[in-house]
Amino acid sequence: MRAFLPVFPFLLGAVSLLACAEERHLGPHVHGQASVNVSVDQHAMDVEVSLPGHDAVGFEHPPGSAQERDAVAKATATLKAAAWLVPPQGAGCTLASATVSPHGFGGAAEPGGHADFDAAYRYTCLKPARLDHLEVRLATAFPAVRKVVVNLITADGSDQKVLDGSSSGVDLPQ
Ligand SMILES: [Zn+2]
Repeated sequence: MRAFLPVFPFLLGAVSLLACAEERHLGPHVHGQASVNVSVDQHAMDVEVSLPGHDAVGFEHPPGSAQERDAVAKATATLKAAAWLVPPQGAGCTLASATVSPHGFGGAAEPGGHADFDAAYRYTCLKPARLDHLEVRLATAFPAVRKVVVNLITADGSDQKVLDGSSSGVDLPQ
């Protein structure tokens, strides 16, 4: 479906982030590009990421060898560990839950022949007032990532930041 709606996600913007929290794909499926949504509501920070299989493991089909199975398991573990996302130490954030969903790596190929990894995280932050910045190190964890589109929503507003491979810091609306 995403292949037929290349423009809609941008037009709907922040509204769709809130209204379609269950939607599987956060942004267009573009090789080399990851999408990250961050929303902060008092002590809770929710983070969603969508990463093309191409960028995570270098292929987008059900694993056909032990090597490919290992690659999917390793990418899943890397996402689950969440070391790619670093909140400021002073905010006192802890990772409460992490869910990683590979799509298109199971028995059947996805329509369109693409595959991605989606992940969702819930953080609890003791001092949300100090949650003014995030380090988003997806391009370090997955070197095939060249661009990361970060959508941010806090009580103080919303913003979109685009990171290229050499930058990783985003400021949150304050
Ligand atoms: Zn693809």
